[in-house]
Amino acid sequence: MDYLPSSEGVLKKVLGYGYQIQPEALKILESMGEEKATEVLGSFPDKFPEAIVIESKHVEAILEKTPDKKAADTNDLKLNGRITQIYDGSGLIQRCPKCNRWIIDDFCIVHSDVEGIWDLRIKARFDDGKERCTLIFKKDVTEKSVGIKLEEAKNLGEAVTLARIKEALLNRNIEVGGVKLSGGNFLVKDIRKV
Ligand SMILES: [Zn+2]
Repeated sequence: MDYLPSSEGVLKKVLGYGYQIQPEALKILESMGEEKATEVLGSFPDKFPEAIVIESKHVEAILEKTPDKKAADTNDLKLNGRITQIYDGSGLIQRCPKCNRWIIDDFCIVHSDVEGIWDLRIKARFDDGKERCTLIFKKDVTEKSVGIKLEEAKNLGEAVTLARIKEALLNRNIEVGGVKLSGGNFLVKDIRKV
């Protein structure tokens, strides 16, 4: 058995798969031991091909527990501030069909030549006047907040899509709702211009 006994091993595995993870989800994975956690992680891309962030509801769904909706909602936070920068790797991107990693030119560092799957996402620097963090937008929220659909973005291309994102979000006062992720990132579930 070459598994690391420490809980650090679980987080490393998650990051190795190219995912981000919510602290509650990490706690659940760690509590089940590394072997079982690896099993859950292995089935993650099949069950949630769109996801880049593992949330506790995902883990619970894989374990076939009914997610506690009320508990999930109370974990949601709201932040008010401005997006001051849109990071590289935002906009129209490609993902590896096997591991979901962000890839460029149909080449995955783990799986070599693959046929990339198009996706939309945003990673942005957010400043509320006191603190800064990185916001993560998955496809649905990106589509909603920029007013652009994935199919449309594919026609427009990477550069125009990124310009549309910047035009819609950069330096505007917004309120975002979502959850804090381990590592200080914030997963945006909802966005409102204020
Ligand atoms: Zn891959």
